[in-house]
Amino acid sequence: MAEAGADMIHIDVMDGHFVPNLTIGPAVVKALRPHTDRPFDVHLMIAPVDPFIDAFADAGADIITVHPESGAHLHRTLQRIKDRGVRCGVALNPVTPAGAVAPVLGQIDLVLAMTVNPGFGGQSFIAEVVPKIAALRAMIDGVGRAIDLEVDGGITAATARLARAAGADLLVAGTAAFAGGAGAYGANLEGLRGEP
Ligand code: ZN
Repeated sequence: MAEAGADMIHIDVMDGHFVPNLTIGPAVVKALRPHTDRPFDVHLMIAPVDPFIDAFADAGADIITVHPESGAHLHRTLQRIKDRGVRCGVALNPVTPAGAVAPVLGQIDLVLAMTVNPGFGGQSFIAEVVPKIAALRAMIDGVGRAIDLEVDGGITAATARLARAAGADLLVAGTAAFAGGAGAYGANLEGLRGEP
């Protein structure tokens, strides 16, 4: 996927507790690390999250993104990530309001707006989240720091257009990126990027 033009590799870590599904841990992230020089954008859907931050930093994460609901003290969690020299992000579930990220906008490098309920690939984009993406764009622009606005869940060529129009600058694609096998990856990614 990196050869096909992906800017970064988004890794969904699920624990079967914070979200219903179970995926991979730091050992697999570490094993993947030598295979690409693209940044690893590690999305932790685990609770509690604090005890695992060091392990994912050690495994080679370039960005670690956490949900406010996955620990009692978001500010402290973000500080732990920054203390490891890793960029940090906050992920908002579809019903988590944009304001949840406001107190930490001075601290973070990325806001991730979930457009599905986290837990499974292949779900449909929840269009009701689009106004929140626009609200987050306005909040970020008001802060005047470099903060990426990433959208994750149900991204297709059509929903990518909606997300970009609302102000997203990073799109996570699973199903739409991998469809058709390796020979189609480049064209799939081009279709999601749309017009510059
Ligand atoms: Zn994700």
